[in-house]
Amino acid sequence: MGTQRKILLAMIALMLIAFIVSIVAIRINKKRENLIIELSQEALEITRNEVVKDQESKLYRIIYDYTYWDDFVNFIQNPDEEWAEENISTILSSFGLNGLWMIDLNQKVLYSNFVNQLGSYVFEKDLLSDLHEKRFVNFYDFINDELFLFYGATIHPTSDADRLTDPFGYFFLVKKWDEELIDNIQKISDCELFFMSGIDTLNLSNINNTIQSSKALYNWKDEQVGSLIFIRTLPLLNLNKQISNQMQLFISSSVLGMILIIILLLNRLVSRPLKLVGEIIEKEDVTKIDRLKQSSSDFARIGNLIEKFVDQKKELEYTMHLAQASDRLKTAFLNNISHEVRTPLNGIVGATLLISDPSISLPEREELSELIQISTERLLRTITEYMDISLLNSDSMPIFISDFKMSELIKPLNEEYAKACCLKNIAYKNNFDALPVGFILRTDKNLLGKVLQHMLENAVKFTSEGSVSLLIYKKPQSIEFNVVDTGVGIEKKFHSQIFVHFEQEDSSNMRQYDGSGLGLAISKKICDLIGAEISFDSEKGKGCSFKIVLPL
Ligand code: ADP
Repeated sequence: MGTQRKILLAMIALMLIAFIVSIVAIRINKKRENLIIELSQEALEITRNEVVKDQESKLYRIIYDYTYWDDFVNFIQNPDEEWAEENISTILSSFGLNGLWMIDLNQKVLYSNFVNQLGSYVFEKDLLSDLHEKRFVNFYDFINDELFLFYGATIHPTSDADRLTDPFGYFFLVKKWDEELIDNIQKISDCELFFMSGIDTLNLSNINNTIQSSKALYNWKDEQVGSLIFIRTLPLLNLNKQISNQMQLFISSSVLGMILIIILLLNRLVSRPLKLVGEIIEKEDVTKIDRLKQSSSDFARIGNLIEKFVDQKKELEYTMHLAQASDRLKTAFLNNISHEVRTPLNGIVGATLLISDPSISLPEREELSELIQISTERLLRTITEYMDISLLNSDSMPIFISDFKMSELIKPLNEEYAKACCLKNIAYKNNFDALPVGFILRTDKNLLGKVLQHMLENAVKFTSEGSVSLLIYKKPQSIEFNVVDTGVGIEKKFHSQIFVHFEQEDSSNMRQYDGSGLGLAISKKICDLIGAEISFDSEKGKGCSFKIVLPL
């Protein structure tokens, strides 16, 4: 398995573990949150009950203490406002209360003191009857949207703390749930507190990180007149939620990270190598194979296969090229045979038939004999060239290196080609006389002679006016043979093919110049064999200059 794939799997495994751990942690956190809410809710309900009970029991203590008192009984029997002012009215300021009423058994108010809002408050007959029976009553009432806690008790002699005797009258105390009281409660209970009248319930569950509890408030008829609502903020819940949010953020980022890493690695491991494969195959861009081989192991294997495939394809193309070349060669050879062998043979056969006719004149007979001679020479030259190319191609051309005088090589050539030029009415030039007398050369004389012959043969053949020159220059390390003519020259596009066998600028059967198309191929191969270098320079219509450099 490739290293990159291992890293990919390890990263996915790590991300999965992180993902699972985070999910578990979130679930634990959620449970903890529920537990916090549950416990806090219970605690809030206890606080709420305690707060309400505390307010009610404060009032109960006061009213209990005052209502078993002989002086109070006396007051009911003989109401004395001064006494009430001095002894009862002070309750309001002493205990921070807001109203009091002293009522006799006939439900007549004997003395009262209260804040303005309570001015029109009337204690119903049934309430007093109820109180008469129960000895104590407490209830809530809303007056002008203000909440009041009422506490009532029956009046008894000092000796009857348990209120077993018949009551002498009734006493009511009222405490208003004012801002000061609510502030105090809020401070002590660590809650926000407010009240509302009516029986509507308030849905506060959507307030973040808080819990709520409400206490129903009843009037003396046991009808709900409103509610007290306690709201407590839970910092722990907030903290818990923050942790939970962070976890969710962590999960989201790890999932995102996982996806990103997978995309990146997929791109690196699959998409990019696939693209490379596409480019290599489509555009045959083999330079990219090395890059592909550096990819993951599978693609490296594909890279190796493609490389093999490309190599095989190249080999096949080369073989096909060779086959095509060989086919071309065969066709050229056949064409050549047909032209270069049959033409002189036809000449020889025709002339031989005619020459035996006794009626033809002597000059005609001489002409025919010359034709037979030219055709035979041409045929001989062609066959020699076939032999030479075949020997050279099979590396079996014999080579004889020897020392010889330059004159032995050049003089016969000069004679032969001066004559040939003369026949074509063109000049033949050579600089042989400028060379040191008796200059000795060491190479295969016969082969070098063949090369120069081919050069001169072509020069004369392709030149109809001007000159043909054989120029020899002695250089410090080499000797240079130049065959220069002023003939038809060679088209630039044909330059690269000039040394290939059977290649001729005009190879048609109707061509103006005869020749096997082997001369230059033979010359090139011989030069390679004797360690010489052959090159040429030519422009169409401006003649040719062939150069053979032979190291000394
Ligand atoms: P060929 O028997 O046709 O002369 P070569 O191999 O000697 O065969 O030459 C190949 C071809 O090169 C010729 O057919 C001709 O087109 C061109 N060529 C060679 N030498 C010359 C030259 N001196 N001037 C013009 N063309 C030449």
